[in-house]
Parts: sequence; C-alpha cells; structure tokens
Amino acid sequence: MAFESLANRLQKVFSKLRGKGKLTEDDVSEALREVRLALLEADVNFKVVKEFIAKVKERAIGQEVLQSFTPAMIVVDIVNKELTELMGGSQSKLARSNRPPTVILMVGLQGAGKTTASAKLARMLLQQNHRPLLAAGDIYRPAAIKQLQVLGEQIKVPVFTMGDQVSPVEIAKNALQHAKDHGNDYLIVDTAGRLHIDESLMDELKQITEAVKPDEILLVVDAMTGQESVNVAESFHKQLTLSGVILTKLDSDTRGGAAISVKAVTGCPIKFVGMGEKMEALEPFHPERMASRILGMGDMLTLIEKAQEGIDVEKAKEMERKMRTAEFTFDDFLDQMEQVKKMGPLDQIIDMLPGANKMKGMKDIKVDDKQLGRVAAIVKSMTKQERQNPDMLTPSRRKRLAAGSGNSVQEVNRFIKQFDDMRKMMKQFSSMMGPKGPKGLKG
Ligand code: GDP
Repeated sequence: MAFESLANRLQKVFSKLRGKGKLTEDDVSEALREVRLALLEADVNFKVVKEFIAKVKERAIGQEVLQSFTPAMIVVDIVNKELTELMGGSQSKLARSNRPPTVILMVGLQGAGKTTASAKLARMLLQQNHRPLLAAGDIYRPAAIKQLQVLGEQIKVPVFTMGDQVSPVEIAKNALQHAKDHGNDYLIVDTAGRLHIDESLMDELKQITEAVKPDEILLVVDAMTGQESVNVAESFHKQLTLSGVILTKLDSDTRGGAAISVKAVTGCPIKFVGMGEKMEALEPFHPERMASRILGMGDMLTLIEKAQEGIDVEKAKEMERKMRTAEFTFDDFLDQMEQVKKMGPLDQIIDMLPGANKMKGMKDIKVDDKQLGRVAAIVKSMTKQERQNPDMLTPSRRKRLAAGSGNSVQEVNRFIKQFDDMRKMMKQFSSMMGPKGPKGLKG
C-alpha cells in the first residue's frame, strides 16, 4: 500500500516529539528536518516539500505550540491541516451538467489505467442511479475496444463503439448523439493514449474537446511512476486545461509522492484514486482523509462508507452484538469473511484503521475466493461444538481437521491464528465504533 513507509517514518518523528513534553524551537526544527526527509524519500516534489515545511514551521514555532502542555499534538494537527491543504483542501467532486449528458473525457498515456478507470467510473455512476454510457475511442491500442466492451458487460453499462476505422473525433460526436437519444445522463469517452506525450495525441484530444465540449477532462496517471506522473499531469494540463486527475495503482507499492504533489504542482485536483484492478476499486479522493491515513490516524469515514455499501446491516448488527458478547464463532467468521470480502481487499481495509501499521501480523491476512474455499472446508470439518468453542482445538483435533479438509496442519494452524487475529481486530473495531458512533473523528 502506498504511503506505508512515509506513514511509518512520520509516526516515528511524532512519537519522538511526544516523548519530550515541552518543546523548544530546536526540537521542532529537528522534527521538521525529519519530516522533510521523509517526504522527499516518498518522492514528493522538492519544491513542494520546501514550501510545505516552511509553512508548517512558521506555525509550529509560534507561541501556541511552544507554550502548550501538549505541543506534539498541536504539531501533528498543523502537519495534518497543511498536508490536507496541499492535496487540495476538500474533496473535488465530479461535474454535473444541467444539460445532460455530462461529458467526461478520459485522457492519459498508454498503460496508465485509462480504460479500467473509465469502466470503474461508469460503475460508480451506475451505483448512484445514473445512466452512464461508455464510448470506446481508443482505436490505436490493440484490444482496447474489446477490453471496454468486456468491462461494460461485466458492470452492465452500455458501450458505444464504431470499430477502429473511424476517427476518435467522429466516435465521440456520434457517442454524444447516441447518449442524447437514449437518455444517458453521463457519457464517458475513453480516448487513445500514447507511450509518450506527442503532438498528434494532443491535437487529437483538442479536436475531440472542440467537438464534444466535455464538462470534465480527467487525466489518468499511474502513481507508480512517481514524479514522472506529476510531470505528465503538468504537460497535459498546459495543453488541455484538465478539470481533474485520477491517480491509479495507489494500491501498489508506490511511495505515494504523486498523490501529495499533483495538486500543488499543477493546480489540478485529484478527483479519484484507483486502489486495485477490480471494478469496485475506485475511491473519491478526500484530501483530509488521505492526510489522516498518511499520519496513521486512519480513515474511518471511508471505512464506514465501504461498509455501508457492501454489508447487510441487520447481519452486521447481529455480528457486532456477538463480538461484544464474545459469542463470535467459526461459522460467524466464515460469514464475516464473505461480508468483508465485499468491502475490498482486507489489507486495504486494515490500512484505514487508526494505528493500523502498528498491528503486527494483520498485513498477512488475505481474503480471496480460493482461500475462502479452503477456510470453509476447515470450518466444515469441525464438529458443532468445535465451531462454537475454539479452545477445544487441541493438536490432535487440528490434525483431524487437516486430513478432513485437505489442508496441511500448518494451514489449519495458520487459519486458527487468523481467526484469533480477526476477533481481535473486530473487537478493536467495535470498541472504536462505540455506542455513540466512531471515536477519533474530527469535524
Ligand atoms: P490504458 O492503456 O490506460 O487504458 O490502461 P488499462 O486500463 O488497460 O490498464 C493497464 C493495466 O493497469 C491493466 O492491467 C489494469 O488492470 C491495471 N490497473 C489499472 N488501474 C489499476 C489500479 O488502480 N491498481 C492496479 N493494481 N492496477 C491497475
């Protein structure tokens, strides 16, 4: 997950500060030197870092901090606010034309994830009860049209195509007419990318822009290319005046600098981030939540939204009651795995919990269909009593479970450990939620 090492480093800096009690100007300067290094190492543009540190410093060596009894908390708060500001302040929402369809032009280099992002966006709009139409305008990349058609079928969104022998400008124009005729309120036009920015690409995009007057021009950039993605955004923005950026592959091992620098360098807000290859792996970008994640304060709001999207509320309530009263059994675990799976990869969910990167061992939990099948086999090999009472699972019983479910004893042991970890996580989760809702949330 992006930001992991940045988050770790920043949290170390702040915990050192916390240990000091009252702070001197030197303490703050020293901490900010480390913050500066951490940001540079995360591949944040150096000019952005310089300005950021200057701003934080100006506020952090003020009287408010130095005379406070909880200065470290105030410093973290200042960093949090400035980081949020740097990434755009507040969420930048998708445009909505009052003369539908709202036209969204998707642009970007080849491989950035443009076609995938087009389909993800269409899915998101469909879920919000819109009637999106996708248009296949990438006539150069082999199989791009087919790819969009396959995705369209999967998410149940119509795809407008005219093959690869018609110019993208014509395709876009015809798609717009089609959307008008068929009552589609959003038109998402996937365009062709190139390996590098070149004149013919820009010309073509300008012509499409002329022809369909998009309400949004969204640039799709790959977070894994770090600073390069920021440069790409700058070039596109100069030529096309973008309305927003979709930063993809933030689930990968990128250092995350692009997410922090894009807005500051280009003036163009990030509107969405791609968190995986699956269709549901697109999240609206909330600067304040992202800052909070980077500072290890978690992102309970996104977590709650995800939960509301995918989870059966009645079942969740019952589950919560069980966890509180320690009735949580292996059968519930299976059920829970199914529910959690709907929210997305578990490691991403864990990343949203406050202090998540301190929860050792949690990172190894993977929920996929194959593993779910194996786990189900283990649970089904248990007797009724064993399912209710994990303490009964002595080594000899575990051996029997392994034989019964076609797993090795190690695998059975690993699963039982996961079960314990999950119980711990859910306990932490439910105690954080408390009767009055989530704790630790601001605003
Ligand atoms: P295009 O050439 O810009 O249209 O790129 P594609 O949409 O075909 O995407 C290129 C590759 O990146 C594909 O293998 C996608 O599955 C993958 N991809 C796209 N978005 C994401 C993302 O957010 N996370 C990850 N891990 N992979 C992604």
